[in-house]
Amino acid sequence: MEKPLNFVLIGRSGSGKGTQAKLLKERFGNLISISTGDLFRDLSKQETDTAEKVQKILIEGGLPFDDLATTLWMHEIAYKIKGNQGIIADGFPRRLNEAKSLDHFLEFLERKENTFYLLIDISRQEAFDRLTKRRICKKCGELIPWVGDFKKLEACHKCGGELINRFDDQPEAIKNRLDYYDERVSQVVDYYKEKGVLIEINGDQSIEDVFKDVLKSIKR
Ligand SMILES: [Zn+2]
Repeated sequence: MEKPLNFVLIGRSGSGKGTQAKLLKERFGNLISISTGDLFRDLSKQETDTAEKVQKILIEGGLPFDDLATTLWMHEIAYKIKGNQGIIADGFPRRLNEAKSLDHFLEFLERKENTFYLLIDISRQEAFDRLTKRRICKKCGELIPWVGDFKKLEACHKCGGELINRFDDQPEAIKNRLDYYDERVSQVVDYYKEKGVLIEINGDQSIEDVFKDVLKSIKR
């Protein structure tokens, strides 16, 4: 049996890595996303001491202690992923220790040689623009990304509704997310770079062209 492919997607907020994850799933079928964002939201609904703390963090911001995310995604992989399913790491690793833990886990699962570490690379300025200038359709709620030809749209391409910007009022929150990337996630990027496994994709292109580069980079 051929071993399933696994993907670790890294990139600033706004890089479009979520969209690329979706495209990879459509292309390869047997991929399962493990999303730390979803895992934290699920956890926050429990009635435990930890859940209460996490709920507070989700509302007020801040960070849980280092190992909590690792514990959650390891548990999820251990309990859910079958031998014929590939993994998409969505939202992790975001810290150096997490990257090392993921390495050990993938080694244990004998998946290391079938794992691709993709950096969807956009500049901080580009990320900031995309996050503050993206728009939403007032009528149908379609999210219009600030990328490629979407920038030129004057009305919703799905229903013709009016496009409004409701994201330019949160520059502080966006700045914090981008700071976190520069301070912490960049260490993960350097770690993979030093190991010689990082695949750098120019994220400054249309969604289709980014995906073309992704497919090219995983052809062996
Ligand atoms: Zn619309």
